Amino acid sequence: MFRLKKIMSLEQEQKYFPEIEMRRNNVPCWYEISLGEKAKYLQLKIHQDFIRDSKNQLGNDHLIEVLKERFNLGEFGTDFSENIGFGKIFNNEGKDEKGMIVFQAEIPKLGNITNKKCELCRGHDGLPCWNCYGTGKEITTDWNTARNFSASLTILTSYLAQPSIKTSANFPQLLTLETKTEHDQHGGSLWGVISLKLHNYINSLDTPSLNKISAPAMVASYQKMFFDASFLKRYFFAEKLENGGLALDCHGDRSGIFPDTGWHNNNEGYEFTCHNIDSPMQQIALIAGLAALHDAARKET
Ligand SMILES: [Zn+2]
Repeated sequence: MFRLKKIMSLEQEQKYFPEIEMRRNNVPCWYEISLGEKAKYLQLKIHQDFIRDSKNQLGNDHLIEVLKERFNLGEFGTDFSENIGFGKIFNNEGKDEKGMIVFQAEIPKLGNITNKKCELCRGHDGLPCWNCYGTGKEITTDWNTARNFSASLTILTSYLAQPSIKTSANFPQLLTLETKTEHDQHGGSLWGVISLKLHNYINSLDTPSLNKISAPAMVASYQKMFFDASFLKRYFFAEKLENGGLALDCHGDRSGIFPDTGWHNNNEGYEFTCHNIDSPMQQIALIAGLAALHDAARKET
């Protein structure tokens, strides 16, 4: 009897694959990726049932030590009742009215101006120069802080990808996200799942309205990391592909996210993947665009 019970519960566990199920049906929300005020913050909102099930602890992940050593990162906070992430950058802001525990991280400032003239535009203020963001001065980039932010998301979203329980949330999971933090090419890759519900929402929009939701968040987050150069607006945009496919573009070599498999079917959600996302800055801007879309869809659906 005990054995049978055990086998049954194992089968039950194995039957819950929410990332697959959310492509066809509404699955109770277990986490949200949301945007704080004016794209200055990124929020992970995690349902209290998920946290209770995890016994308040993120658990042991070998990757934490690997990333910490590789990029010389801060101590990783694993206790959900406190601040979490490398350097504990995701602040626990308490529970919201929907039973979600809000963890908020400030999108970091990464660019610092030096006294040297920009070698590319020779110090002409206000030019659309990627070397100095129109400041006219050489700048330095704080890669350590960028990787601390990116790697925190890599660990946290990887953990959040595997809920073992259905939460009691009466609103559905809209999207999931996973990220990579590596040196060199494709080191800022990201991928995830757009739920059926979010697919329907994207389908209800046209490209200009989709762009109006996601592009300002991508630009504002990039400007928060670097400088308020207005020319950046030309490089970030959203596009609705046929059948509600989502494309978000950022600067780079045809860089952005786009649908991967299953997106031609209007009755299903789909996976998204990315192309040529090398840096944590591109990654963070695209996540801000996704978070803005998430928040708009949550309001409307
Ligand atoms: Zn310049």
